[in-house]
Amino acid sequence: MNSLRKRLILLFVVVTTTTLGLFGYYEQKQLREDLERRFSATRQDIVEHLRHSLTDPVWSLNQETMNARLEAALLHPEVARVQILAPDGHEVYAAIARPIPLDEKLATLDETLIYPPAEVSAERRVLPTARLRIDFDRSEMDDSLRRALNRQLAEVVAMNLLLLLLLCFGLRLMFDPLAQLRDALNDLAGRDADTLEELPPFRLREFDSVIDGFNRTLRRLRLIILRQGEAETRARAAMRSTNEALAQVRAAQQELLEKNRQLEILSITDRLTGLYNRHKLDALLQSELARCQRYGGVFSLILLDVDHFKAVNDRFGHPVGDCVLRDIARKLEENKRGADTLGRWGGEEFMLISPDTALDGALQFAEKLREAVEKHCDPTAGGVTASFGVASFRDGDSLKDLVARADQALYRSKHMGRNRVECLD
Ligand code: GH3
Ligand code: MG
Ligand code: MG
Repeated sequence: MNSLRKRLILLFVVVTTTTLGLFGYYEQKQLREDLERRFSATRQDIVEHLRHSLTDPVWSLNQETMNARLEAALLHPEVARVQILAPDGHEVYAAIARPIPLDEKLATLDETLIYPPAEVSAERRVLPTARLRIDFDRSEMDDSLRRALNRQLAEVVAMNLLLLLLLCFGLRLMFDPLAQLRDALNDLAGRDADTLEELPPFRLREFDSVIDGFNRTLRRLRLIILRQGEAETRARAAMRSTNEALAQVRAAQQELLEKNRQLEILSITDRLTGLYNRHKLDALLQSELARCQRYGGVFSLILLDVDHFKAVNDRFGHPVGDCVLRDIARKLEENKRGADTLGRWGGEEFMLISPDTALDGALQFAEKLREAVEKHCDPTAGGVTASFGVASFRDGDSLKDLVARADQALYRSKHMGRNRVECLD
């Protein structure tokens, strides 16, 4: 039960109890006055009646009739005790009382004088013959009042309970829709709008307008969520296609890099032998020359030319010639040192660049290579030889000078009978 409901019930109980209590108090007051009025009228009647009925028996001192009259008086429930006394009150002529002792607090005493009857002379009639004393019992009246009070209390309690029940029913009518609305709003805040049902109408105009507002909000929220979902799907699709495009671009880039690398390799490679070509050898010679010019040091150059190669071609055909060239390239490759660079200078000529190698070392190395070529025997063309020209870098050399010296040394080797190693120094 929430506090507003508690407060309303408390307020209601206070108001109804106060109202019903006030009404009860007023009714009780009225009843008391009414009973008081009736009690005093009855008292008066009884006193009057007894006084008249006792006039004759008292005058004639008829004890029997006096007693009969007194007994008749006890038929009234209000009468508790009746006494006929001498006028001065000292002697009791007759008396009667109920067996139950009289509660003095609830008693009312009435006294009156009895005079002689009308036939007695006027002078004698001014003197009373007896004194009549009646005790009236108020307990009957008080009982009636108490009963009325109890009934009223019961009425107040019953009325309060009934009205309370009605109030609780009315409050339920009012608060149940509010509780449903509160739960629905909590659900709206805590759950997915898609899973919420629209609220049914309560068939109470005041609440139904609120419910209508709630349902419209729910529908709008669902629409927003739907649009948001669509936008997210579109964004994801766009992201996916962008990623795909990026992947394609990356793959194309990779392919391009690979092709560039292959092109670069191709641009520096001799097709037939797989060695560096003349172009690459030129570049390497340049950089080696520049290094020696700048930091000092030495390097050597070995140029070799296959002897009588034209004859090989002529006798066995160009493809066999190619094969022989490839074999020589392989032999040279196998016998060179790790730091040396080998390439095809052109036609049937090859070149080796030996860094940090002086002329003597280069001559020995060339000799080793010459022997390796000489030893080789092609299954078709048989053995071939090569002539070698060696030159070493000297201060002030240009590339042209160096290559020219190696070339001249090679020429000398040819001239001196081929299958030799020569230098100009
Ligand atoms: P020398 O001992 O004086 O060098 O005689 P040579 O016959 O070797 O020299 P020449 O310059 O007269 O001939 C070189 C031959 O090498 C001519 C050419 O057809 C051949 N040649 C050049 N390049 C290739 C090639 O790639 N493949 C083949 N099969 N032959 C080639
Ligand atoms: Mg040649
Ligand atoms: Mg030749």
